[in-house]
Amino acid sequence: MSLPSKTPALRLRLSAAAESIVRAGHPWVFAASVRRQNRPGKMGELAVIYDRHDEFLAAGLFDPDSPIRVRILHKGKPEPLNRAWWRQRWEEARARREGFFDCGLRIADCGLKEPRTGLFQGRTTGFRCINGESDGWPGLVLDRYDTTLVLKLYTAAWLPRLGEATELLAAEGNRIVLRLSRNIEATAREQFGIEDGEVLRGSAPDGPVVFLESGLRFEADVLRGQKTGFFLDQRENRRRVELLAAGRRVLNLFSYSGGFSLYAARGGAAGVCSVDISPHALAAAERNFALNRDVPAVAACPRETAQADVFCWLREPAARRFDLIVLDPPALAKRASEREEAMRAYSRLLAGAMARLNRNGMLVAASCSAHVCAGDFFDLAREAARQTGRGWEEWLTTRHAADHPATFAEGEYLKCIYLRFQ
Ligand code: SAH
Repeated sequence: MSLPSKTPALRLRLSAAAESIVRAGHPWVFAASVRRQNRPGKMGELAVIYDRHDEFLAAGLFDPDSPIRVRILHKGKPEPLNRAWWRQRWEEARARREGFFDCGLRIADCGLKEPRTGLFQGRTTGFRCINGESDGWPGLVLDRYDTTLVLKLYTAAWLPRLGEATELLAAEGNRIVLRLSRNIEATAREQFGIEDGEVLRGSAPDGPVVFLESGLRFEADVLRGQKTGFFLDQRENRRRVELLAAGRRVLNLFSYSGGFSLYAARGGAAGVCSVDISPHALAAAERNFALNRDVPAVAACPRETAQADVFCWLREPAARRFDLIVLDPPALAKRASEREEAMRAYSRLLAGAMARLNRNGMLVAASCSAHVCAGDFFDLAREAARQTGRGWEEWLTTRHAADHPATFAEGEYLKCIYLRFQ
């Protein structure tokens, strides 16, 4: 994917420190590290980085508006980043996921055949196909929901290349929906006439898209929902919660559309209570239960919802306690400056959830704040457990699911700890 241009290639030189960082494989070059540039660069054009000996170091996508000035696509020997190169990179992302899912099909085949009405083709038809930098596609995420692909951009540098990206992915699904992170919406509209939720290929969906995860049906609001419509990154934790749920009264805090609740119900929970501040999320949870009413354990599981701010809800002096609590708040530290406040908020949530646990209860606590590292979050949870004065043991800690690889520190955000209390 090269931009047609008569002007000379955009050439950059970096500080010595940034040079070493790029050489070691980090995918970002910050604006402050750019020492020399032969001309002003355009949004999304290819920037070629040379080292202090004037040897090729790397090439990446240029973004004149972002502090992350270049997102590296390729380092090492110079190569033409042409259509064949992109195809190869896409094949690599696909091969990386081969066999991850119990869908009984090669991933390459998922969703390609005409789905027969009322029948799903496999057990997991919703998963991440491309996870940004960690798959070599900086600032770009591609999620599959059955035959719908959702392309989400976190950098405006992809906007001039959308046509080529769509062409590359055209054979992979019936429909491609474009989603934009909030920080690039204005640039997309003003400079490219592109809106969040545009359908790049195929017909617009007439409602949420239904897909399968571990054999459960879920809807994803691909046009307006959070992330790309569903929190695919929690699939492996949801599977574990199903295995822990039998006979337990389950509380799902920050439930969104009920992902953990459905798994707990199928796992034989004695009851499931979903709490979220958003009435839309709770309505989606109800619809997801309805979509799975043919699963006997789901139909049999008593369920309730509470529309509430979890921070307030946990402070209420309610007598009711639970045997299994899932605590999965949104990112509480969106930027580094919010980290300390987020740590205090996590402490309050952890203590509040632990106070609601019955004897032999299990807490499953997750954090998706990139600015709070896994070690610090786990230590916070352990300290909160000590503060309860109860006996407790650490059962498990988990990180990113295999379809959400994280190959650099800033790409790591998800961590989860399982604690059992006496
Ligand atoms: N566990 C979910 C994902 C949670 S996303 C899953 O597996 O799909 C975070 C959710 O927290 C969102 O649905 C959002 O509406 C909700 N939320 C954000 N702030 C909240 C608050 N203060 N109290 C309750 N819910 C909140």
